[in-house]
Amino acid sequence: MEKIAAIQVLDVPVHPYSMNDAVAYLDQKIQAQQPSFVVTANAEIIMMCQDDAEYKNILTNIADLVLPDGAGTVWAGRKLGHHVPERVAGFDLFNRLLNLAAGKGYKVFFFGAAPGIAEAAREKAEILYPGVDVVGCRDGYFSDCDNTAIIEAINNSGAQILFLALGAPKQEKWLQAHLRELKPYITMGIGGSFDVLAGKMERAPLWMQKYSLEWLFRLYKQPRRCIRMLALPKFVIKVICSK
Ligand code: UDP
Repeated sequence: MEKIAAIQVLDVPVHPYSMNDAVAYLDQKIQAQQPSFVVTANAEIIMMCQDDAEYKNILTNIADLVLPDGAGTVWAGRKLGHHVPERVAGFDLFNRLLNLAAGKGYKVFFFGAAPGIAEAAREKAEILYPGVDVVGCRDGYFSDCDNTAIIEAINNSGAQILFLALGAPKQEKWLQAHLRELKPYITMGIGGSFDVLAGKMERAPLWMQKYSLEWLFRLYKQPRRCIRMLALPKFVIKVICSK
């Protein structure tokens, strides 16, 4: 499958894949034994890139696939005149890849979140996706001196897919720093997805997702996010001005 060309949203590349096409693309990458570093880029991430050159460089030059996460990124792509079929949310892609892994026998590694959460997410994944082989779990609270042992654990597990939940931009920066040492083909930052899968954090109800109100739900559940969320109106204004 030929790779879909990226569109630019505020100078950040976004590959406008549908969910099905993204899963098929990543399946092919695993079968071809080729690496793919995946970022699901919501408006907050695109705004972080405006002030963080290192982060922008990761999305522009190092990530293989930058997907349109969040209503904001989809809206911006369309507003700028591009065809963006749908939103590819990190949590949804995480679940689709777990389903793919269960069906095809791909091994996965869960790295990140508070102690015990990745294990709880694994238990839930085993119920939802029977046969899924989560070959290792590791929490996301560590210091630099632990990196070698963490990388060894990931590589020795034989995982083909690594899900990393340290939050943005920490997860992408960690992946960028260690990409060459890591053996899994698919490496993907998934933010708070282990918390959601483990049932520690709720996801917005479907109607809110449908009406692009997931951000409002997250703000209600985690009011401390309000400073970060100020990026959203700034993002809208910047996109309109960039037209
Ligand atoms: N986290 C972690 N290590 C850290 C900082 C955060 O494992 O040093 C985890 C945290 O426990 C949570 C996730 O990273 O599970 C961040 O979730 P959030 O919803 O804030 O992700 P974002 O919206 O930044 O992608």
